[in-house]
Amino acid sequence: MVPPRKNSSTAATIEAVGLVGGARVFDPGCRRCDRLAVFLGEVSARHPDYHAAPVPSFGDPEARLLIVGLAPGMHGANRTGRPFTGDHAGLLLYRTLHEFGFATAPESLSVDDGLRLQDCRITNAVRCLPPANKPLPAEVRACNPFLVGELAKVPRSGVVLALGAIAHAAVLSAFGLKQTTYRFGHGRRHELPGERLLLDSFHCSRYNTQTRRLTAEMFRAVFAEARASLAVGSRVAE
Ligand code: SF4
Repeated sequence: MVPPRKNSSTAATIEAVGLVGGARVFDPGCRRCDRLAVFLGEVSARHPDYHAAPVPSFGDPEARLLIVGLAPGMHGANRTGRPFTGDHAGLLLYRTLHEFGFATAPESLSVDDGLRLQDCRITNAVRCLPPANKPLPAEVRACNPFLVGELAKVPRSGVVLALGAIAHAAVLSAFGLKQTTYRFGHGRRHELPGERLLLDSFHCSRYNTQTRRLTAEMFRAVFAEARASLAVGSRVAE
């Protein structure tokens, strides 16, 4: 599927509408979370060739689609330094991104594999690998200013796709919205300030895909909705 041309005036509009708290520019040396910094030190000692540091967002900085995952996986983003790259969680994601014209290749292998995202950017609610893939609420809060910085770049009519309930909650926190008013559910849509749309999906983790809690068809339906919403947004902006 060929992506529609990005409307340059829309893409250039950086909206901080409704975001609460200060945005922080990504800090590759951030050690704000003691527990995670100590854990990364241990991982780095065991795997000296791993990235083992905060993982930067990946993709088009002017993208209209921002995907928010949970946190780097031990042998995926934490190893390679690119979100959803190198482990099972990225398989379905990049395949689906490619199918909908958001990625130039169906597989993300490493930071230097030449893959590019088109009108799409991927970030995480938490940028450092948490033990057992479970960040503490305080760690999600500590990392939220980096997410605010990413959300501020999503233009009007843009789409934020939250992968899982923790990512969904982190997006709501960034906007100061009540969790009880905007309940997470696969396929749900929520209006965000600044005419942006929040779409929810179950996380594309190995567990969810292997148990078929999330199937390829279910994931495709969410991306079809994102693509349709962006197409409507471009027409409105014309
Ligand atoms: S999780 Fe975020 S806030 Fe915490 S140390 Fe890593 S980059 Fe910093």
